[in-house]
Amino acid sequence: MTGGKKISEALEEIVDRSYTFMHICGTHEAAIARSGLRSILPEGIKIVMGPGCPVCITPQGEIDAALELADKGCIIATYGDLMRVPGTKGSLNSCGGDIRVVQGVHKAVEIAQKTDKEVVFISIGFETTAPTVAAVILENPPENFSILSCHRFVPPAMKFLLEQGEAKLDGFLLPGHVCVVTGYKEYEQFPVPQVVGGFEPEEILLGLYMLVKQANEGRHEVENAYPRAVLREGNQKAMEMLYKVFETCDVEWRGFPVIPDSGLALKNKYKQYDALKKFDVEIKHVEKHSACICDRVLRGIADPSDCKLFFKACTPNNPIGPCMVSHEGACKIWAVYNHKK
Ligand code: SF4
Repeated sequence: MTGGKKISEALEEIVDRSYTFMHICGTHEAAIARSGLRSILPEGIKIVMGPGCPVCITPQGEIDAALELADKGCIIATYGDLMRVPGTKGSLNSCGGDIRVVQGVHKAVEIAQKTDKEVVFISIGFETTAPTVAAVILENPPENFSILSCHRFVPPAMKFLLEQGEAKLDGFLLPGHVCVVTGYKEYEQFPVPQVVGGFEPEEILLGLYMLVKQANEGRHEVENAYPRAVLREGNQKAMEMLYKVFETCDVEWRGFPVIPDSGLALKNKYKQYDALKKFDVEIKHVEKHSACICDRVLRGIADPSDCKLFFKACTPNNPIGPCMVSHEGACKIWAVYNHKK
């Protein structure tokens, strides 16, 4: 099979019922929306978004902790997307503190090297970004540098989604970028069809074809439709570095309760770089009050257009929830590409 057309024809031939597949990656959603892929899928196939945007799944309590650190006089270094995510009392963008947009942890360290002030890097991301942060911590950054670790691991959230059963999933299109680092051994525990997906429309179609085939044949395996980048073992060196510095911890995700072992905290050996410990800041649970349904979008049980605020009160210029802020957020992607169900 070569080319998107042939794959889509082959897919059409094997679809014999309804299937709901979830991807857990903002880049997958962007590729699907940009190419209009949903419009050419056979009627029975539904692709839903999961908790695949690191900015979106960062709960309000962590944004509030970042705001508290800014309030304590720390320079906050963060990715641009996080600036406009609302906390309980405004956003980093509007808090009046010294907030610097950086492209990565190395830039935050550079800021710390040039000042006597405390610099806190808001360290968000999945398994893809955590090894880079670990490498920086192992290089002994300056004493006035620390991180607020908001990292998350993908498999525990998938386990939660499957156990809870709310989204009635027939399988997962696994996040190619994450699997480059982690490999896909960890996913073999799940009793549903799974395929590691690339990011070109043809690669996503191939992933869907493989998922339908597995589902039809009653197989529950992890297959790899992105072999040019992903190995089953992943990047072991990166994972070793990650576990040298971090240990798993139980954390809340936006839209999810506390999920066991789904977060990463600095090991005690590196506690001097842990902003929560250094500045005695606590992450608190914040009850949701707005009409924003990001929580449901992140659990795969609602589409952005199901939200009554979508493209009315909530737009990319005036975002109400994190899914409209981040370029990996489903609402922003649907708004930018004028995407429909
Ligand atoms: S459209 Fe806005 S308010 Fe609605 S779910 Fe998306 S981010 Fe939240």
